[in-house]
Amino acid sequence: MDYYSKHISKLIEEFSKLPGIGSKSAQRLAFHVLNMTQEQVDNLAGTIINAKKNVKYCKCCFTLTDEDMCPICKSDKRDHSVIMVVESTRDLAAYEKTGRYNGVYHVLHGAISPTLGIGPNDIKLKELIERLRGDVKEVIISTNSSVEGEATALYISKLIKPSGIKVSRIASGVPVGGDLEYIDEITLLRALEGRTDM
Ligand code: ZN
Repeated sequence: MDYYSKHISKLIEEFSKLPGIGSKSAQRLAFHVLNMTQEQVDNLAGTIINAKKNVKYCKCCFTLTDEDMCPICKSDKRDHSVIMVVESTRDLAAYEKTGRYNGVYHVLHGAISPTLGIGPNDIKLKELIERLRGDVKEVIISTNSSVEGEATALYISKLIKPSGIKVSRIASGVPVGGDLEYIDEITLLRALEGRTDM
């Protein structure tokens, strides 16, 4: 990267830190930004800064939201006695897109992964257990079908079982290791409707 000025090199370096961006894509993005108008660049930078500043965790379900409590947790049209556990806000969005789930969510922000050194305390698990003190009838575990997702599902199920609350797991049929957000709505609905007790 020595052929570029240090500002360009720095820009490429920053882009290459983003997920899924290799060095070629990083260069393409950097030069694209440099070809944008000043106004466009200000807009982009400002949007990133504002999003980071203003988006926070919902104090109830821990999804990313603009307010203290997200619209789903605030809604009295949702069934607050059914909690679906997902790994990320993107997974929540995928289920919301189906328009057929009427319960609420709990976002873990990750999954347990001994190989990556991510333990139960590194995800929003304590917070889920806290919520179970309320009037909860069912916890639907919709973590991914990756090794980490399955391990997390098993861990959570063992943790909740003694409380007598029903614990279910979305049906397989969700491609192994597939990020939920890339799965079509029909598959997602089928997985939800075909959920089984754990
Ligand atoms: Zn919420």
